[in-house]
Amino acid sequence: MAHLENKADVIVVGGGLSGLVAAHEAVSRGRSVLLLDQEGAQSLGGQAWWSLGGLFMVDTPEQRRMGIRDSRALAARDWYGSAQFDRPEDANPRAYAEAYLDFAAGEMRGWLQGFGMRWFPVVGWAERGGALADGHGNSVPRFHITWGTGTGVVKPFAALAHEAAAAGRLTFGFRHRVRGLVVEGGVVTGVEGDVLAEAQEVRGAATNRDVTGSFRYTGESVVIATGGIGGNHDLVRRHWPEDRLGKAPKFMVSGVPDYVDGQMQIAAEAAGAGVINADRMWHYTEGLRNWDPIWPNHGIRILPGPSSMWFDGNGKRMEAPYLPGFDTLGTLKRILAAGHEHSWFILTQKIIEKEFALSGSEQNPDLTSGKWAEVLKQRLGKGATPAVEAFKSNGADFVVADDLETLVAGMNQLAPDAPLDPAAIRAQIEARDAQIENPYAKDAQVIAIRGARAYRGDRLIRTAKPHRILDPSAGPLIGVKLNILTRKSLGGLHTDLTGQVLRPNGSPFSGLFAAGEVAGFGGGGYHGYNALEGTFLGGCLFSGRLAGRHA
Ligand SMILES: Cc1cc2nc3c(=O)[nH]c(=O)nc-3n(C[C@H](O)[C@H](O)[C@H](O)COP(=O)(O)OP(=O)(O)OC[C@H]3O[C@@H](n4cnc5c(N)ncnc54)[C@H](O)[C@@H]3O)c2cc1C
Repeated sequence: MAHLENKADVIVVGGGLSGLVAAHEAVSRGRSVLLLDQEGAQSLGGQAWWSLGGLFMVDTPEQRRMGIRDSRALAARDWYGSAQFDRPEDANPRAYAEAYLDFAAGEMRGWLQGFGMRWFPVVGWAERGGALADGHGNSVPRFHITWGTGTGVVKPFAALAHEAAAAGRLTFGFRHRVRGLVVEGGVVTGVEGDVLAEAQEVRGAATNRDVTGSFRYTGESVVIATGGIGGNHDLVRRHWPEDRLGKAPKFMVSGVPDYVDGQMQIAAEAAGAGVINADRMWHYTEGLRNWDPIWPNHGIRILPGPSSMWFDGNGKRMEAPYLPGFDTLGTLKRILAAGHEHSWFILTQKIIEKEFALSGSEQNPDLTSGKWAEVLKQRLGKGATPAVEAFKSNGADFVVADDLETLVAGMNQLAPDAPLDPAAIRAQIEARDAQIENPYAKDAQVIAIRGARAYRGDRLIRTAKPHRILDPSAGPLIGVKLNILTRKSLGGLHTDLTGQVLRPNGSPFSGLFAAGEVAGFGGGGYHGYNALEGTFLGGCLFSGRLAGRHA
């Protein structure tokens, strides 16, 4: 077996967004960089390539053009209402949140524009929150979808890495799985691991773990940028906060590729790095089994508009604030408290056409293409987008019927252990439908639908005109079985504002830096308990930049 030796000023472990940004910044400072990744060249860019490319930015021209009045102060109130920082170790995460808010309300947009990024003009209103003004959630729309979606965010940084490689300032080490840190006299001086056999699979697919050699590389600094733990369900369950969310589900779909395996976080901890807030995580409740999977157990998240009726596994309509698009973790807890791991949407064809978006670059080929003509064709044409219609026809979690009793019978075939009572479902829908007659209502969801339509962006493309669910002219009816989908780790390696990793006692672990999801997107968890969305890519850009400037 070959054994490789190499040297660089900075070793970056992980070629996802945070690693690419860190590498670019380090190269820009004249540092030589070795960029290692356990996957092949085809997966460069990591999860960000698959992402929707949504970025949390504050008080932007896009927001102002849509009539949104945002400010750093409002964003900060929303952030802290969501984060609910309550631990002594939250000092660095909180400092990171402050610094990111400055960045998102200041330099961020211009900096990214300098790399050629542009944003879809309708700003999305994600994660509207838990119902109190000073509590969790976005008071205003802040989710800026990048033209090209995730591929548009990755592209400039991947191109810069290739340019640096061509200029001899960066060396790629694909199929290099780092297994451990080399520590000498308490200082990190390098990394060691396995060279894996070539893999020809398409981007994102699971690849072999056949070892063909080993390596030990030396560097002045090591930046860990290896992502979270969402692809490793055993680890997710190990850290699952049962006291806050209830028992971890036995079945979950995977919202991330297999390589998001959390192994490097474990290796860094074993070498002496501090990990904080590992029990804070961000998983979605609107997961679909992908009918056309790329990675194992591939799940796709619906980004729902506010009108679908949402029922727990017992068929009880969920109360506010557990409405589509409002409070991710509150809803997760509410679903599990009903004693089942799934929940149900019931909606109409009219709602699916306007309100169903699917997360991911490959599910939004129009936005990913960056071409207006494609967007207009797909979004304003007949029916839902082709990707949504494909799920409706082929997805294992969809039932379509012209009448409610046939619909519920079909839904019961998908969950025979928890059959729904069609009469009870009908009574709840009829009660809700009766609230549509007037332009005001007591039903919190109907009020929320009307509130959403007061925002021009939602009225234009995201919120169906209020109508009766049982109105045959709005049909057919659609039932969707929703699974829990693993995605993001909110905690991770404890870092200070330079990206420097700290030991469990808070002292610097010299030579070691971390960025991106493995560092809880900055500081070891700058979201606290809840995220406002768009803050994951945002955190990778920001923490990658900091680590690359200091490593
Ligand atoms: C479908 C989808 C949609 C999303 N949409 C959004 C969105 O719109 N907005 C938003 O803010 N966020 C979004 N996210 C989240 C965001 O994309 C991720 O949190 C972010 O890209 C993580 O980047 P990272 O650099 O920290 O890690 P990753 O992208 O996970 O990259 C880590 C890299 O490290 C490599 N690696 C891991 N372990 C090792 C090892 N031991 N040795 C060598 N290499 C290793 C991996 O192979 C991988 O290439 C989305 C995610 C997905 C999957």
